[in-house]
Formats: sequence, structure tokens, C-alpha cells
Amino acid sequence: MEIPWLCIWLPGVFVLGASVGSFLNVVVARIPTERSLFWPSSYCLSCFQPIKWFHNLPIFGYIWLKGRCANCHKSYSSRYMWVEIATGLIFSGIFALEFLCDIRGVGWFKLFPYEMQLGLVPWQGWVVFLVFSVLAAHLLAASLCDIEFLEIPLPITITGTLFGLALSPLTAWPFPISPGTVPRIATWEDLIRRAQIPAGIMPWPFWLPVPGNFSPGSWQLGLVDGILGMIVGALICRIVRWVYSFGRGMEGMGVGDSDLMMMAGAFLGWQVVLVGFFLSVFPGILVGLAQILFKGTQTLPFGPSLALGCVVSLYSWPWIGPLVKNLFFEPVLMGILGISSILILGASGIIFRILGGPPTDPSSSEGP
Ligand SMILES: [Zn+2]
Repeated sequence: MEIPWLCIWLPGVFVLGASVGSFLNVVVARIPTERSLFWPSSYCLSCFQPIKWFHNLPIFGYIWLKGRCANCHKSYSSRYMWVEIATGLIFSGIFALEFLCDIRGVGWFKLFPYEMQLGLVPWQGWVVFLVFSVLAAHLLAASLCDIEFLEIPLPITITGTLFGLALSPLTAWPFPISPGTVPRIATWEDLIRRAQIPAGIMPWPFWLPVPGNFSPGSWQLGLVDGILGMIVGALICRIVRWVYSFGRGMEGMGVGDSDLMMMAGAFLGWQVVLVGFFLSVFPGILVGLAQILFKGTQTLPFGPSLALGCVVSLYSWPWIGPLVKNLFFEPVLMGILGISSILILGASGIIFRILGGPPTDPSSSEGP
């Protein structure tokens, strides 16, 4: 069995994630209030004394001090520790899903049999891990800000988008598969017949068959994939926001949600964010109903649902892809789907308007 050897990476990946989570805590605490990330170093919010580095270690720092400041003994929230644990688990999860389960069907053991059986991850694998963990860290930071402040700060999503755009030419579809070994998908008939399109970091290129100027694996293809993903991600929320607000009679989604999807699109391509958006409606409706029923408030953070939708879309692409394949490369069907979903969305806005009563959010009261 080769899989247990790969597991030796999991503790290291968890520690890496927990450290990133520790940094995300700083990001979430400082970015929304426009403070510097790097100065001053972490300090107690009660006595303003700097926190010693060994008291600031992810997870252990909190357990060691039993959740209290070493200087003034004021207790602080365990949320910081939970964010660190969650980020560690997310990073381990990415590693396990990608390499242990090969859930996206990249075929790591077929591509790199020698390294993988020794428990080594080839450099291409680390690149894939890097791309997904950078995206996950940004999605998590954006979601935490949205939950706490009902706002997704632009610095987070812009940074993420730039990362996505910078990485996309380097990891053009079908990376990590070498483009020479991919059977040429020349015609529409080929595509229909082919059960599965080889999965790169972006599961698909922006169009199939790939237009002549953008050969598979070229940086031009990667860049266009990233840019189109970014544009579709940014547009879908804006269109939906307009239609939903029209039905609901109040602002349903913030601009930050568009930025979050723009960021995810730059990493994952337009098809994954489009499906991710539709998937996010399910957790979104649950959160919305819970807010109305239990909190009586109608302002809901939609960022976490969008982030979840995109992640689920990415990892279920081997199942979703074949279902939407005939649709996504067929402009007429795409148009029909677009129009009908806009109608459904407008209707659901009206349903929420009836369920939730008149808008109470003061920020939307001056709107038309
Ligand atoms: Zn203190």
C-alpha cells in the first residue's frame, strides 16, 4: 500500500495551515479597520503589552496560557484557536482530497508513479497544493470578515485575485498533466464522446475545442482562463444582485460578494464559479431562513455560502462536469439557463420579501 506513506505529510501540512490561520486572525482583526498587518506585532487588547512569540504559537499558545493574557490575565476569545485549527484542517483536507483520494481525477499515481509510491509529492503536486491553499486562505479570511462585520474587505479579494491571475499562466490547463500526453480534443463530437476531460488546476479550459491560438498548457491559455473566470465571477453576483434586489425590494448581496467570486474565478475558471454560485444558493437559503427565524434580522453574510459553493463545485467536478459539459460549450442552452435562473431568482426574492416582511435594514431604506 502506497497511501500510508503520503500520510506522513499530513502533520506538516496541518502545522502549515495552523500558522497561516494564525496570520488570518491578524488579517481579520486588522484589515476591516484598515490597520497595518505587520506593525505593531500582536498585542493584548486589554493591557496593550506585546505578546511573546512563544505565547503566540498557533493553537499551543492558547492552550498553554489557558486562554488568558500572560501579563494581565484577561481572558481572550477561543475563536483565534478555532480559526487556527480550522485552517490546519482545511490545508490537510486539500492535501488528502488531492493526493490521497485524487478526488478530482487528476491521476497522480498514474502521472508520477515512482514519486507517489515512495510517498513523495512531485513539484507539480506542491504547485497544485499551493494554488488551492492560497485560494482557501483568502476565501476563509473573506468569509470570517463577512460573518463578523457583514463586509468583505477589498484588500483581501484584490490580493487573492492578483494571486489567481499571476498563478493562472503558470498552471494553464491541463497542468499538472503534460499537454503533449493529452489526447487532442479536436472536435465537438470528440468532446461529446469523451467521458471525462482531463482535469487541470482549472478543471476545464475556457472553451472546448481549445481555440487555435491558445494551445493547451500555454501561458496564453492560462491567462485567458484566469481573466474570463474573474470577469464571470465578478459579473454573476452583480447581475444576480440587481435581479434579487428588484424582487426582494432591498439589497440582497454586497459588492464584497462579487469580489469574492471574482477572486475564485481567477483561480478556478468561469465554469466552476458559475456552478459554485448555483450551489451556494442552498447553504445561502438555509442561513437566510435561520437568520429570519432565530435572529429576526435579514442581513445575512452570503460570502461563506459562496466560498462553500465554489469549493464544493471544484471537488465535485468529476460528477458535475459530465452533467454540464453539453451545456457549457453550447451557447443557446447557456442562454436559456441564464434567463430561467434569473426568473427563479427574482421569484425567490419576492418570496423572501413576503417571508421577511418589509425591509428593516437602514442602509437600504434610502434606496428606490
Ligand atoms: Zn493583557
